[in-house]
Amino acid sequence: MLKIAFIAHDRKKDEMVNFVIAYEHVFVPHKLYSTGTTGTRIMEQTNLTIHRFMSGPLGGDQQIGALVAENEMDLIIFLRDPLMAQPHEPDIIALLRLCDVQGIPVATNIATAEVLVKAIERGDFAWRELVHKYKPGADE
Ligand code: PGA
Repeated sequence: MLKIAFIAHDRKKDEMVNFVIAYEHVFVPHKLYSTGTTGTRIMEQTNLTIHRFMSGPLGGDQQIGALVAENEMDLIIFLRDPLMAQPHEPDIIALLRLCDVQGIPVATNIATAEVLVKAIERGDFAWRELVHKYKPGADE
């Protein structure tokens, strides 16, 4: 079971919902997280249960970032709007930085998201189980 987070900026939310509908069968067995509105939109149109954090501008990226910092999150699908300034730009940069600190797969556009979802289907994320198993303090 992987921990997967969804975040989509406003003009990317339709794209995210359609993407998750298309791959709902892949996401079903996993533990899903999202920022507030993104999660509401996905849950309205799928049968998935998603743990929703705050809306992005109110700190949702930072809440997901807290799990990333602890190497708890396994995959982030973050459909950013590259053509619109965001009030919480510093939080966005911080989240992406933490993904790079931990080496956590993060897709910032639909093409990469698609590749990563197909990787889940193939079982290419098994290495993340090892990360959790051998994390310092994992057996304490
Ligand atoms: P939202 O947050 O899912 O609550 O809209 C995402 C964002 O805009 O950062």
